[in-house]
Amino acid sequence: MKPETCNNRIWLSSPHMSGNEMHFIQSAFEQNHVFPLGPNVNGFEEDIKLLTGIRHCTCLVSGTAAIHLALILLGIEQGDEVICSSFTFSASANPILYQKAIPVFIDSEPETWNLKPETLEEAIADRIKRGKKPKAIILVHLYGMPARLDRVMEIADRYEIPVIEDAAESLGSTFDGHYTGTLGEIGIYSFNGNKVITTSGGGAFVSNNEEHCRKAFFLATQARDQAPHYQHSHIGYNYRMSNISAGIGRGQIMVLQQRVEKRRENYFFYKNALKEFTGIRFQDEPDERFYSNHWLTTLLIDPDQTGGITQEDIRLELERHNIESRPLWKPMHLQPVFHEYPAYINGTSESMFEIGLCLPSSSSITHEERNRVVDVIATLIRKGK
Ligand SMILES: *Cc1c(COP(=O)(O)O)cnc(C)c1O
Repeated sequence: MKPETCNNRIWLSSPHMSGNEMHFIQSAFEQNHVFPLGPNVNGFEEDIKLLTGIRHCTCLVSGTAAIHLALILLGIEQGDEVICSSFTFSASANPILYQKAIPVFIDSEPETWNLKPETLEEAIADRIKRGKKPKAIILVHLYGMPARLDRVMEIADRYEIPVIEDAAESLGSTFDGHYTGTLGEIGIYSFNGNKVITTSGGGAFVSNNEEHCRKAFFLATQARDQAPHYQHSHIGYNYRMSNISAGIGRGQIMVLQQRVEKRRENYFFYKNALKEFTGIRFQDEPDERFYSNHWLTTLLIDPDQTGGITQEDIRLELERHNIESRPLWKPMHLQPVFHEYPAYINGTSESMFEIGLCLPSSSSITHEERNRVVDVIATLIRKGK
């Protein structure tokens, strides 16, 4: 039997419907609002604003599209340099290349796993010395953990470089009481199927700057000028969210708080159930200002303290028990496609990538399923090599 058809497989991060979604889809069908834009999109944008406190929101086909439009709005063009967290999913960095700009990758700090402020400052100073000031910073909140926003924003403001917060994984996370995605010049969220809530695929562009959201809307809807005929003075994109997808989003955002609580509870559960193993560490919040949605519970496994058991041994053993787990994101500066670009590296993300693992973290995971995961890991480590 292929893994996909096994009914007892435990997935890394599954969509989790609330039951409210069909109501919004139904009403779209009844009114024949089966197209991009429409009342569900408007409603979903209002929901996001109400939740996060952001002033403006434009829903799009994906988080990647939102990053792309953010770069366009900030004037990023061929040859410009854009700073980006190295420890992330490739979608954070790909839009830099869509614009034929140059990514400059910055390594992480061990506490948050996110962009290290000192390395950021060194990199900015060095780029300026070499003759080019970076034009934007893409700041990622990895696995839901807020980056050190106070320090990063202070540095960015001092050098007058706008920050795009890639909050694709961190909807519902807060730093010092502020939702991630709301503190930078522009924020982006993702509603891909594996994220905390989903629209089956979608994203949002958010900003307190009305002009940014108005322009994002304009570019996302084929850049049509004000005229009765189709008149264009800019290159446009077809990036708008569909009214059906937004209906799913409306049903999902109603339960966001519960979804975040369950993801956090998964983290506390794993942490407690595996606490006897000193070779296993978690992505913990450094202090009370950080509130992570713990989108995925992630481990660092030190084989010197687990009798030689590595993260790959654990991944393979989980797979043998029909449980999906996954290595951490491979840092961008190690990716063949980004290899040639400048990178300011301190060793943190590389060493984490080598020993890290993401555990099944769906909000729909059951207590029995989580126990199955823990049993496999504990049995393997107790047995040793
Ligand atoms: C998922 C993700 C994205 C892209 O979002 P899509 O909606 O899938 O395009 C961007 N950045 C990070 C860090 C992500 O995890």
